[in-house]
Amino acid sequence: MHSDIELLLKLQVIDYDLGELERSKEYLPDMMDNLNNEIKDIQKKLDEATTAREEANLSQKSMELEIKVKEAELQKYQQQMMSIKTNKEYDALVAQIDAVKTEITVMKQQETESMETIEKLENEIPDLTRKNIETKENNAKQLEILQEKIDSIGDTMTSKEDSRQAILLKIPKPTVSIYERVRKGKGGAVVVVVKKRSCSACNKALTPKKVQEIRRSERISTCESCGRMLYWDDDVSL
Ligand SMILES: [Zn+2]
Repeated sequence: MHSDIELLLKLQVIDYDLGELERSKEYLPDMMDNLNNEIKDIQKKLDEATTAREEANLSQKSMELEIKVKEAELQKYQQQMMSIKTNKEYDALVAQIDAVKTEITVMKQQETESMETIEKLENEIPDLTRKNIETKENNAKQLEILQEKIDSIGDTMTSKEDSRQAILLKIPKPTVSIYERVRKGKGGAVVVVVKKRSCSACNKALTPKKVQEIRRSERISTCESCGRMLYWDDDVSL
């Protein structure tokens, strides 16, 4: 392999890493936001369930009291039945008794609903509590790792930039110019391997003469279609 190609491949790895580091400045904070939102969401669900259980408890207790009041009222009317004197009084009392009975039925339905809600929440709350603790623990660990990554981006980039400069000094300037031009214009890999007698980036077929030239590694050849630099690797190119 041409010695400049070896250097360019190293440069390419560094540039890829630098690109990733640059992108990670965007996506690492996003990942942290997601983890923090997950913590908030589960805590919110737990809080809501706890509040709903308290409300259902209160509602059930007040219903219980009101039912007792209404039942006492019913008993009072039923006793009054014994001392009824006229038909008119009888009809009025029967109507009152029916009305109270209806009220009691409705209240008992509401009480049952509250009890069902409480039962459902009593089942859900332990799961939510466990999930809340787990999410907080797991996400805190991940957040710590991500924060460390974010904190180290600057230093890692500086050291990669240093290696990059050191390599650039060893490569002839015109070759560096081609590399930089293709990198900015095309993005992705600039130095690509020959595969099936074609450029592995754009699949342009190479002439037998070009293939020979690349195999001999006398000078750096570029793809006439995409401009990328080509190299030969017996393991892949043959
Ligand atoms: Zn090409």
